[in-house]
Amino acid sequence: MGGEGKKKKKNLVIYPGSFDPITYGHVNIVDRALNIFDKIIVSVAINTTKSGTFTIEERVDMMQEVFKDEPDVEVDSFSGLLVDYVRERRAQAILRGIRTVTDFDYEFQMALANKSLDPDVEQVFMMTEGKYLYHSSSIIKEIVSLGGSVGEMLPPIVEKRLGEKLRT
Ligand code: ADP
Repeated sequence: MGGEGKKKKKNLVIYPGSFDPITYGHVNIVDRALNIFDKIIVSVAINTTKSGTFTIEERVDMMQEVFKDEPDVEVDSFSGLLVDYVRERRAQAILRGIRTVTDFDYEFQMALANKSLDPDVEQVFMMTEGKYLYHSSSIIKEIVSLGGSVGEMLPPIVEKRLGEKLRT
């Protein structure tokens, strides 16, 4: 319980993911989380076994552009265990988004694994808003590579870079 006169602790949450690339589905989670948390670190997980479409630097660069007018959002990347990164950044919680039962299944397993690695870690899940349900980086990449339009799913800079990447 926070006593009178005690300085309120700023709550900081880490939103980790592949973000390969970032979509409006991710952006919507960040926008809504800003109503709950003081600061959000959106952080690209460096996965040495998965190469991805964009390099880590390219993903971070696009995310910095997308959140450039949002002072309470920091873009970062990390390698190693998420729970170690959370402790290192002194964050209060991990944020993840959920679209489907498949997401839930995966997130539930990951959450239990994180909890067993660090019993102090708190994990918060936000449900997608209906229109973002089918927004997944992999489906969007498939649509772009087949020549479809994804302007409603991606911030303009991401749409442009993805087009250049997949159509060349
Ligand atoms: P990962 O490979 O770690 O799942 P993603 O970049 O695919 O990374 O997703 C990061 C997080 O954002 C995950 O928790 C995922 O479920 C969530 N997410 C992705 N797309 C959406 C969306 N359209 N609505 C809500 N959550 C989403």
